[in-house]
Amino acid sequence: MEIKQQVANSANELVSLYRDFHTHPELGFKEYRSQKKIIDYFTNLGLKPRKIASTGVVAELKGTKPGKTVLLRSDMDALPVTEETGLSFASETFGIMHACGHDGHMAMLMVAAKMLTAMKDEIPGTIKFLFQPNEEDAGAHKVVKEGVMHSPEVDSVFGLHLWSQCPLGQIDIVDGPQMAASYYFNLKIKGHGGHAGFAHESTDPVFISSLIIQAVQGIQTREVNALDPAVIMFTQMNAGTSTTTIPEAAELTGSIRFLYADGKSLFKRFEHVISHICAAYGAEYELEFKKGNALLSNHPETAALVRTAAAEVVGPEQVTTKIRTMAGEDFSEYLAHATGTFAFVGFNNSKKGIVYPHHHPKFTIDEDALVIGTELHIRAALKLLKG
Ligand SMILES: [Zn+2]
Ligand SMILES: [Zn+2]
Repeated sequence: MEIKQQVANSANELVSLYRDFHTHPELGFKEYRSQKKIIDYFTNLGLKPRKIASTGVVAELKGTKPGKTVLLRSDMDALPVTEETGLSFASETFGIMHACGHDGHMAMLMVAAKMLTAMKDEIPGTIKFLFQPNEEDAGAHKVVKEGVMHSPEVDSVFGLHLWSQCPLGQIDIVDGPQMAASYYFNLKIKGHGGHAGFAHESTDPVFISSLIIQAVQGIQTREVNALDPAVIMFTQMNAGTSTTTIPEAAELTGSIRFLYADGKSLFKRFEHVISHICAAYGAEYELEFKKGNALLSNHPETAALVRTAAAEVVGPEQVTTKIRTMAGEDFSEYLAHATGTFAFVGFNNSKKGIVYPHHHPKFTIDEDALVIGTELHIRAALKLLKG
C-alpha cells in the first residue's frame, strides 16, 4: 500500500495517542507515564526500546540491507501552564499542560516507527527513534552525553515541530540558521546602600542598573549588522526593601539570543558596556552566563533532501522556506554531531479557532496535521538513508 494511504489509515490511532498524551502531561525529566507508554508500544512492535536520560526512550530499527544510520527525534515534556482550552481531553493534571505540541510529536513518531517497522525489508541501514525528555530546558545535553549519537554512529538527524506560525498543510524548512541560540545571564550590580535623602553618600545600584539596561540596547542597533538578528532582554529585576533606602545591590537576569553564526561576540560587548558603566559610577559587578540552546542551523544538503520528502507529503507549492525564529530548540545539540535538518509542520487554522501561540493556556493543534508530520518522518528517514 502507498505510504500516504497507510498513514491516512492510521489517523484514528494518531489522534487517540495524541489525546492520551494531552490528557496526561508531564514536566521535563518527569515523563514516566509517557516513557512507559512508548516502551510498551515499541516492545509490541518487536523492537528493543531502552531508557535514556532518565525518562527518555531510544529504540533502533535495523533494515535488512546495510547502510547509514538516521536518527528521528521527538520531544516529550509539557509545561507549567494551566490549561484553558475547554477540550474534552484537556489536562487532568492541574497546572501542567502540553502547550507546545510535544504530545503530537510523540504520537507521530510512534506511528511513523510502526510503519517503518512494517517496511523493514526496504530499509537500507538503521533508524534510531529517540524520545527526548525535557526539551523546554535543554534536555538534549543529557541524551547526547549518554551516547545516543554512537553505536551505531548517527550519520544524520531529523526532527520536526508542529508550528503555530505556519498554516495547516504547509511545511517550512530553511537552509542555515532557523532557531536562535539562547543564553541566560545573571548580573549583580554591587553599590553602597544608604539614605534616599542623601544619595551622594551612596553608590546607587538601581540608578546604575537603569543606565545599563538602556545602554546595552545600543549593542544590537549600533554594533551588530542589522541583518544579523540579536536580542538582549532583561526579564527580572530585584533590588531594595523600602521607599527610603538605597539598596546595597541590584540583581538582574535575562537572556541574549542570536540567529547568526558568530553571535557569541555579543557577550564580550555586553560585559564591556556593563564594566564601563559600573566603573564610571564606582560600582562593582558579577556576571554569569548560562547556556540554553546552541544555534539551530540546518545543513543545506539534508534540508534539500527533506524538502523533497515534504513536497511528496503536501505538494511542492506548500513547502516554504521562510520561518526563522528567536525561540530556541535543543535539537541543535544533535546537529553539532551529525548533519541534519529540523522542519516546521503547520497546524494554524483560524476557521477552527486554532490560532493561539505555543505556551499559551488556550494552545491547541489541528489534529489534521498529525498525518502530515507522520508521513514527513517516514519520507525524511527514507530520503536521508538513501541520499
Ligand atoms: Zn515550547
Ligand atoms: Zn516545543
